[in-house]
Amino acid sequence: MEPIAPITGMNDVLPERAPAWQHVERVAREVFAAYGYQEIRVPILEQTGLFKRAIGEFTDIVEKEMFSFEDRGGDGLTLRPEATAGIARAAISNGLVHNQRHRWYTLGPMFRGERPQKGRYRQFHQIDAEAYGFEGPDVDAELILLSARLWKRLGIEGLKLEINSLGTPEARRAYRATLVEYFSAHADALDADSTRRLGGNPLRILDSKNPALAALIAGAPRLTDHLDAESRVHFEGLCARLDDAGVAYTVNPRLVRGLDYYTRTVFEWITTAWGAQNAVCSGGRYDGLVAQLGGEHTPAVGWALGIERLVILMEEQGRTVSAEPPHVFFVMVGAAAERLALRLAEQVRDAWPDLRLETGLGGGSFKSQFRRADKSGAALALVLGDGEVERGVVALKPLRLGGEQEEVALADLPARIGSRLGLG
Ligand code: ATP
Ligand code: MG
Repeated sequence: MEPIAPITGMNDVLPERAPAWQHVERVAREVFAAYGYQEIRVPILEQTGLFKRAIGEFTDIVEKEMFSFEDRGGDGLTLRPEATAGIARAAISNGLVHNQRHRWYTLGPMFRGERPQKGRYRQFHQIDAEAYGFEGPDVDAELILLSARLWKRLGIEGLKLEINSLGTPEARRAYRATLVEYFSAHADALDADSTRRLGGNPLRILDSKNPALAALIAGAPRLTDHLDAESRVHFEGLCARLDDAGVAYTVNPRLVRGLDYYTRTVFEWITTAWGAQNAVCSGGRYDGLVAQLGGEHTPAVGWALGIERLVILMEEQGRTVSAEPPHVFFVMVGAAAERLALRLAEQVRDAWPDLRLETGLGGGSFKSQFRRADKSGAALALVLGDGEVERGVVALKPLRLGGEQEEVALADLPARIGSRLGLG
């Protein structure tokens, strides 16, 4: 029979890679805790209308990347392409926006029908941070400092921070008009995507990844010249706090971000090591989003990072993470030994909850089980054959430990293992 193929752009994280993922997730949870961010978990499926309203009709995501379908009842559902919309929806659904402040994070899979390539997949995973109810640039700065601490804790080097301000929706509308004027005057030079965006969302032309447009985009009017006074003060406040903290950044007036909901602050941590997939972590402020989704006006700001891109970067920088080897490998040969060994193994695990003990299940000679024991990386082998069963002992054979082999009475086994391994 033909094997069933995996879905394009959706990857298996195999056990050899899983420790790196676990490490990233564990460190992220610790860093979030250090700043008072709490975990929130929201569904992977939402109504399609949520993303259309939150992300915007004229974005790549909504126009061509969403995995949308009708369920059996005829409702339009979509696999979430990002986490912010669902979290804003959850804040409203649970009555958590009125006069409240929250610092939240979430981890999980996102889905976008993009062309798969290095660092770009159809199911990918994000770590997402959100702060609700905070007006000022101090929380924008905190979120950036939090991400910088994450890079430090993970040992990731060379990420560059770019920041920009998109101003208020009104300021953006004025800027939009000047952009339409500029790009219309150069309509011949635009590609098909950009021509389409010129009508719907001309700011997105600035976000184009087509190198043929780079010069045209570089010559476009700058949003920073159209900022409203309050947004300017907000942006200067953010810059001052980043300066205080010694976080280096570049102001990139072309940074607009691919989603419509942003206002004021936007930022990206980028790597210079790759091509188009250069954004490792992206975020910004979206003060209008909650109201746009039918909730009470609530300022909000957040970021999301791609775990795949982070893990690739760590590997490229030699930061590999391997699984912890077992402390103990139990070699057991013969029917009676196997039964007794399973029981003893449970007693040892009862005594040492953090101990990693692997058994030589599946049988095989002493020689082949010792080979497996060696390969496992265990420090200590326990050996049980017919002779040991008869004498009522287990042999302890150091593999990656000093000291001699010894025989231990069954009742003394947990304590003896503890002292040989220096546990407890
Ligand atoms: P890009 O410009 O690379 O398409 P984006 O602006 O669409 O990124 P966001 O929507 O802001 O990205 O998502 C935040 C982060 O999620 C990105 O910085 C990136 O690390 C990661 N990411 C986004 N899309 C993908 C994808 N298709 N595959 C893997 N990671 C992704
Ligand atoms: Mg994208």
